[in-house]
Amino acid sequence: MLRRWRSCGPPDPGISPDVQLSVVGFPFCIGLSQAVANEIPPGAFAEYEALIARVDAFQARVRERYPGQIECRAGCSECCRKIPRLTLSPVEAFYLREQLRRLPPEEQSRLREASRTAMPPCPILANDACLLHRNRPMLCRSYGYPTVSPQLLKIGQPGLNYCYKNFTGLGGPNALDQDCILNVDRVTEELWEVNRRFVAGRWGAIFDRRMAFTVQEVLQGALDDWSPGKGRRDIGGRPDR
Ligand code: SF4
Repeated sequence: MLRRWRSCGPPDPGISPDVQLSVVGFPFCIGLSQAVANEIPPGAFAEYEALIARVDAFQARVRERYPGQIECRAGCSECCRKIPRLTLSPVEAFYLREQLRRLPPEEQSRLREASRTAMPPCPILANDACLLHRNRPMLCRSYGYPTVSPQLLKIGQPGLNYCYKNFTGLGGPNALDQDCILNVDRVTEELWEVNRRFVAGRWGAIFDRRMAFTVQEVLQGALDDWSPGKGRRDIGGRPDR
């Protein structure tokens, strides 16, 4: 006979407690802690949002410095239509889920259905717009703008990248000011740092770069019962497109 149930978890506002049942004096916990532990309190995204704000400020600077030279805007979705895959680190994935959950249920179902079809295009794209634009992953934020990767330069790959539609009125990449080129290696390192604290703070685990999600997994609810031991895959040191 079930006599009572009571909380047995820590008093963390971001983590709901386990449910403990007692059968005539023999207490036991049922396995709800995983699902509820994956509720993320808004404050847990503060560091990630600060990093996002810096990338957004970089973009604003580029637009201001080179008026009329940036074609990235609502209505141009070429990169979202061509993207072969999109892999997210934990903090990016959970942040994307926050906005996803605020969509009307029928819209969430529609995205879940769209995610069953292979990419491209990105399943979040609808009518040439990103439905989760505010919480989009870091890669989507920086894509199209001038970025440099010293690591790629070292191995002889093109280190400077931007969308071919941008800067058509300039005399080539050398014409760009240094503070209008984003060092993506540095941003990626900072993203890993944010992930280290995010994973340690929420699950008490050590972040591993193989902790990664496809955008389809996020849309299909894979985060709800995720734990740090699950879903590791080799993503070559950084999420990529
Ligand atoms: S998440 Fe949004 S911005 Fe990123 S590829 Fe998909 S539709 Fe485009």
